[in-house]
Formats: sequence, structure tokens, C-alpha cells
Amino acid sequence: STQEQTPQICVVGSGPAGFYTAQHLLKHHPRAHVDIFEKQLVPFGLVRFGVAPDHPEVKNVINTFTQTAHSDRCAFHGNVVVGRDVTVPELREAYHAVVLSYGAEDHQALGIPGEELPGVFSARAFVGWYNGLPENRELAPDLSCDTAVILGQGNVALDVARILLTPPEHLEKTDITEAALGVLRQSRVKTVWIVGRRGPLQVAFTIKVPRPRKRLTELLLRTATEKPGAEEAARQASASRTWGLRFFRSPQQVLPSPDGRQVAGIRLAVTRLEGVGDTTRAVPTGDVEDLPCGLVLSSVGYKSRPIDHSVPFDPKLGVIPNMEGRVVDVPGLYCSGWVKRGPTGVIATTMTDSFLTGQMLLQDLKAGLLPSGPRPGYVAIEALLSSRGVRPVSFSDWEKLDAEEVSRGQGTGKPREKLLDPQEMLRLLGR
Ligand code: FAD
Repeated sequence: STQEQTPQICVVGSGPAGFYTAQHLLKHHPRAHVDIFEKQLVPFGLVRFGVAPDHPEVKNVINTFTQTAHSDRCAFHGNVVVGRDVTVPELREAYHAVVLSYGAEDHQALGIPGEELPGVFSARAFVGWYNGLPENRELAPDLSCDTAVILGQGNVALDVARILLTPPEHLEKTDITEAALGVLRQSRVKTVWIVGRRGPLQVAFTIKVPRPRKRLTELLLRTATEKPGAEEAARQASASRTWGLRFFRSPQQVLPSPDGRQVAGIRLAVTRLEGVGDTTRAVPTGDVEDLPCGLVLSSVGYKSRPIDHSVPFDPKLGVIPNMEGRVVDVPGLYCSGWVKRGPTGVIATTMTDSFLTGQMLLQDLKAGLLPSGPRPGYVAIEALLSSRGVRPVSFSDWEKLDAEEVSRGQGTGKPREKLLDPQEMLRLLGR
């Protein structure tokens, strides 16, 4: 049976979900082989392209992922876009089981007039820009304005606010890209508003350690209502940059400059809460407030894309419909991470849910629910990719790029200077 042979399994996506799923499968099955397919040339998903540069300790998970990748039963194949270069049905043919862990690559649109004006960016793109995501390297946000408005009050909104407010010299020893640092050094942004539809009790930030929400609320209220002491008041008076939370405000329209060429402000509808408990909703009161600003960053959420028409997708929830990671109605197909649960939750949450998916897969394997008989695994996919002119990169290729990035950072005391251009990366690999 497949249980005694070598189960060939593939994972799509090399973020935390992909790596933690692979880790679980390798640890709990003595012969399982896991191939990880990744569209980027480099691994680790949002750990590299999402997590803020001034939170380096969060990126330590990369050490664990690297150990997994070094297993002789695991292989990383970057530069392969599943759904384009190879389809999910082709993967299902070649493997005993396929796990989709491809995250949430789109952003939730605001759906308001003026959203397309220059000066309005998704937080996703802004984060991708300062973290060196190739597709966002040309973003070049104009930070010559006085006030920036961030729409949304989740963790990502706070990251973005911190990057705008932190004196650039405090970011110089991080892995933020040199290009972003250059733009931030020229920034004239003095005030950052973080705007939310609901109130302080409903904000979506998480704190580092999962302490009760009560603690966070107390902290918020104390900061907001207490008079600062003399020392704090002096510090605030001399601060060159300030920020604030604006609650019970919902974006209604991005206001254009007189020539209509860029953003000049945002019109916010004042809201109030209706209902109790889980049914609480922010409803407009009819009042509006115009907030002048030259930059709008919308941080109202990430969103998964459907990958392939063969895979069920719930467009409303933006997830692959599943039962504990088993994709509904498609035996042998699984999912984990943000594409399974929706785009919320930290790396630790993603780890737990990925281990659970791994567990379900191994249970099905044991119960004989996966195809019996050998499967070709990567041999078959390699032939397909090669016939299509796709040339994957390996984990040792990544290690070469990694070494190059680390060495480029050394001169300036940065942990690394990220490579931004896929063409250059391929050249460095001798392609
Ligand atoms: P991802 O990390 O997005 O990984 C998905 C991978 O799939 C990517 O590598 C992507 O390139 C790849 N992929 C996509 N489509 C395809 C395709 N068609 N074919 C092949 N590969 C594909 N958590 C913390 O614990 N601490 C933090 O400080 C923190 N900061 C964050 C900051 C930001 C801005 C964001 C957005 C998230 C942050 N998180 C943080 C949350 C954490 O990043 C997520 O919980 C986690 O990354 C989700 O893992 P994932 O593997 O599901 O998705």
C-alpha cells in the first residue's frame, strides 16, 4: 500500500503554511517525500515579504524552514507558478496528495470613488515595496506630503505606520531595501492617522504574546485618556512626527487635488456601533469628516485568489472550502495557511493549522484513502516544466542568492541587502 511505499506529496507555496505542513509530514512519516513548489525565485513567503524589517526576531522561523528544506526527503522548486506553469490536475496525477498553501496575494479593494488616484496604495503593495517584493519594486511612493492616512487598524496597518514614523536611521541596520530607505530619508510625512470603522474595543491588532484582550484595551484607553506626565509631554512636544488613531470612521471617497491628478484628502463617514456581541456593526450616522492628506494606504485586508478552475473556491470568504484542511469533494487535495483559514492570524496560528492539515493527510494515507500504487512525483513534473520552457530553481540556488544578499549587506552593517530583480537573480545563478 501507499503507506509502506514512498508517498509522493507536493505542497504549493513556501511560506509558513507550506514549510510547516512539509515539516509535519516528514516528521510523522518515515518515507514520505515532499516537493515544495513556489512561484518566486526565493522561499519563505510573507516571512520575507511581509514581516516588518524592524522585527527581525520573527524571521528566526527561517532557520526551522531551512532545516526542513535540507531533509533528503524534501525538495524546493522555485520559479514555478502553479496554475500557469503546471496545473493542479497535473500535480494530482503525479503525486499521491497535493497541499495548497499559496497564501493570500491580493488586497481587498476599498470600493470607493477616487481609489485609483495617484497617492493611494494598498498596504500590501507598500509592504512589498519596502520588503523587496519584485513586483512592487517600482512603487516609489511620494512621501513629500505632510499627512498620511492609513485605512484599517490591524497589525499590517501598525507595521506600515511604524515604518512611516520611525526615524530612518533606526532602520538602517535592518533588511529594509536600500531604495525604500532612500525614499524614507526624504520623507516629509509628519502626521499619520490610523483610521478604523469601529471603536477601541473592536480593533484587530494582536499583541506579541497572546494575553487577554483586556490588557490591550486598558493600554489603549490609558494612552488615549491619561494626561501625559511632564517628561512624556516634553517628549511629545519635541517629536517631529505624530500619529493618532481615529475610531468610528469609514472611508467614503478619496478626495482629488484641484487638478484632479492626485489625492488631497479623504472623506470619512462617521459611524456608530449597533447591535451587541458578535452582531455589532458599524453603521453611518450621516455625518462626514474630511481629512486632508497626500498619501492614503488602504490596509483593509489581504485576499486569496482562485488558483485553477479545478479547485473549488469560495469567492465570498476568499478561501478554499475545506474540512480541517481536506478540500471538499476533491480527495487527495488539501490546504493550509491563509488560503485555508482566510488572511488572518500570525505565524504561530499558521503553524498549528498546517500541522492539523498534515495530520489529516497522514490519517487518510493510513486509512487507504489516497491513490495506491507508485506515483512518479517530481520526475513527471520536471518533464512537463521542461517541455514548457520553465526552469525551476533549487534550495541550493536560494542559498547562493542568500549568500550574495548577506555579502551585499555587510558593507553597510545590514543583515542583508535583498536582490529585487528576478533577471539579476537568474544571472547570478548562471542562467
Ligand atoms: P504566505 O506567507 O503568503 O505564503 C504563500 C506562498 O505561496 C508565497 O511564498 C507565495 O509566493 C506562494 N504562492 C502564491 N501563489 C502561488 C502559485 N500560484 N504557485 C506557487 N506558489 C505560489 N505574523 C507573525 O507571526 N509576526 C509578524 O510580525 C507578522 N507580520 C506580518 C506582516 C504583514 C505585512 C503580513 C501580511 C503578515 C504578517 N504576519 C506576521 C502573518 C504571517 O505572515 C502569516 O500568518 C503567514 O505568512 C501565512 O502563511 P501562508 O504560508 O499561508 O502564506
